[in-house]
Amino acid sequence: MNCRTAQGQISAYLDRELAPNDLMNMRAHLAICENCQSELEALSSLKSMLTSISTPEPEAGFEGRLMRAVLQSRVEEPVRTPVFRFRAQLLFAGVAACSMLATLGAISWLKGRVEPSSATSQSIAFEVRRDQIYAASADPSTGAPIGAAFGGQ
Ligand SMILES: [Zn+2]
Repeated sequence: MNCRTAQGQISAYLDRELAPNDLMNMRAHLAICENCQSELEALSSLKSMLTSISTPEPEAGFEGRLMRAVLQSRVEEPVRTPVFRFRAQLLFAGVAACSMLATLGAISWLKGRVEPSSATSQSIAFEVRRDQIYAASADPSTGAPIGAAFGGQ
């Protein structure tokens, strides 16, 4: 056994928790190693010092005051949270409704602008006229014969 292994097991040795084989190895190492002997003495005196310290008792009425403080702190939380959540849900629903109304309004406004019957028939008439001019081999933008753009030839 080396010092590193021995010092890792000193606490278990003091608490009598080592397996028989480890206990024998520890005793053999402690018999020859002053370093680990002094480590064992330091830990042993610390342990006896800690066990001699008494646990302080709380003053009378401490438990009752603690329980009242805990119960009072719990009363306020559940009241706030549902109200806040309800308001947040109401706000979200309002925003969603306004957004839906704005979208429907925009769609109906666009429909009114895109689909007037006169505009549709005007664009159809324009396309028919343009195609007739093109079929007659004229410039579709001016109506002049295409040859005119190249000097009238
Ligand atoms: Zn050692």
